[in-house]
Amino acid sequence: MPRQFFVGGNFKMNGVADSIKSIVSNINKAQRDPSTQVVIAPPAIYLTLTRELADPSVGVAAQNVFDRPNGAFTGELSVEQLKDAKIDWTIVGHSERRVLLREDDDFVARKTKAAIDGGLSVILCIGESLEEREANKTIDVVTRQLGAVAKLLNEQEWSKVVIAYEPIWAIGTGKVATTAQAQEVHAAIRKWLGETISPAVAENTRIIYGGSVSDGNCRELSKEKDVDGFLVGGASLKPAFVDIINSRL
Ligand code: PEP
Repeated sequence: MPRQFFVGGNFKMNGVADSIKSIVSNINKAQRDPSTQVVIAPPAIYLTLTRELADPSVGVAAQNVFDRPNGAFTGELSVEQLKDAKIDWTIVGHSERRVLLREDDDFVARKTKAAIDGGLSVILCIGESLEEREANKTIDVVTRQLGAVAKLLNEQEWSKVVIAYEPIWAIGTGKVATTAQAQEVHAAIRKWLGETISPAVAENTRIIYGGSVSDGNCRELSKEKDVDGFLVGGASLKPAFVDIINSRL
């Protein structure tokens, strides 16, 4: 079975109720490729609003989740709370959290495991810095990040994971990876999944690209064999998001 094309929208810490309503209404009204799975991630305070307003065919994701079930963890949200709010997805390991909030590979892996145990699907972000790319460490970095997760998940649990390859140097910078750069890393990730987890997991896991994806570059990127969709930041706040959803039309 071919892998379903997946487009995620990460609103980050942008928007207020009015603008979120208008973004969601644009997505609801748009002619969307029915074969693309769409999941949007508003700021936490607007998760319930977004879930109430978004068409049922549009998934809603938290931008983050905590790895513990409850307790004295000021400011955090649990998997159970997200499920209670009818949220079915979470982003985990976004580079902004890895870098600015110093989340390490093991913490990201524990969050991934907790999310899956509690019934969420996960958009797992991985990716290298510019320095790491220039030192030819890209594949080492992404496989190290995946390796931490692989220690905690069994083979079946990978079906709940969409891997977002997001080179840090391309996020929010306007510097998109070339189609060849994206394809090379996606193919290496798939090879690693095949060797480390199983050939079936390699075949079935969606590997999406993130980093300055726009309506101008999405079509070329989407033609690459191992690019199964996108995680979109800035452009997910704009009407152009619909063109990205429709990249393969
Ligand atoms: C992101 O935040 O996941 C992202 C890819 O951002 P942008 O599209 O703005 O580069």
